[in-house]
Amino acid sequence: MQAKKRQKADISNPTNDPAIAAVMERYAVSVTEHVLSAMETHDTLADPVARQYLPAADELVNTPEELDDPIGDDAHSPVKGIVHRYPDRVLLKPVHVCAVYCRFCFRREKVGPGSEALSADELAAAIDYIKNAPQVWEVILTGGDPFVLSARRLRDIMTALNAIPHVQVIRFHTRVPVADPVRITDDVIAALESEKAVYVVLHANHAQELTDSVKTCVRKFIAAGIPLLSQSALLRGVNDKPEVLENLFRALTAMKVKPYYLHHPDLAPGTSHFRLTIAEGQDIMRRLQGRVSGVALPRYMLDIPGGHGKVPVEPRWIAPAQDGDGYTVRDYRGNSHPYEKTRKDGD
Ligand SMILES: *Cc1c(COP(=O)(O)O)cnc(C)c1O
Ligand code: SF4
Repeated sequence: MQAKKRQKADISNPTNDPAIAAVMERYAVSVTEHVLSAMETHDTLADPVARQYLPAADELVNTPEELDDPIGDDAHSPVKGIVHRYPDRVLLKPVHVCAVYCRFCFRREKVGPGSEALSADELAAAIDYIKNAPQVWEVILTGGDPFVLSARRLRDIMTALNAIPHVQVIRFHTRVPVADPVRITDDVIAALESEKAVYVVLHANHAQELTDSVKTCVRKFIAAGIPLLSQSALLRGVNDKPEVLENLFRALTAMKVKPYYLHHPDLAPGTSHFRLTIAEGQDIMRRLQGRVSGVALPRYMLDIPGGHGKVPVEPRWIAPAQDGDGYTVRDYRGNSHPYEKTRKDGD
């Protein structure tokens, strides 16, 4: 028997605040000892880690544009546990629980301790779906968090996917390396062994989350030849400043983790206090362009509500010229330059 690795922390409601009690009734709340240790204070207005995990009364606010299924996964689920929105890749969601519950989670109506994992039969049906879909080139394990599964169950899933010739890439989306790094044991790493390309995309939103234990965990993946990418959510009060994102992206890149996506916050219920406008997000990205190594810059993405997929919503650097001749291109300092302008006699 392996000792239970997960270290759950108690989140008390010290002030007995009825609003916090109502939030905890409505949404899953869970943090780990590791996450608590990464907080400098428990003030959700001041500490960028506390703000991501500790319940706040603002979550009771619902705005009219918010949706229970903000990215429309339900419309694209052919069998339980599979979301097949794009032709060449599917999401495989073997579990609906996470090591922690992020207050801004876009799946907050789907994840939580009451939600069940796929049964053995349901998992087999999901794998069969992939087997019978030759266009599926990549399987993305997400959830919930796939790294809450035991090494044995991960190995079973990997064995099944390894046996499907048309699946060439297996990708894990996870918060565990940042939220509960001790879960990534040598057995878990060994379970990921594959002839296929295996990628791990870790979710981190602030450099303060990247503790020494997180760095040790990341090195284990790298030592096993598994490349890492990161995804971050753009969150008001956590990382809505260019300097804060710059620190995060530089820290990740220096750890050999390539920043992949910066997600515009989804319209999940009770998350309006985290949301920015697209214009604010574009302004932040505009300030980072050219000032931060291209290797360290992720794409800024919007998941279109209604299940229409993700698209980059980065600031635009090029537009048709006002006089209709060629383009005007802006450089990172804000200066404009003509491009493909017709040469006239005498030019
Ligand atoms: C985000 C997502 C993917 C992965 O998209 P990439 O752009 O390849 O990272 C795949 N399927 C679904 C349904 C998704 O929501
Ligand atoms: S780890 Fe991911 S899926 Fe789980 S609560 Fe956080 S954002 Fe949601």
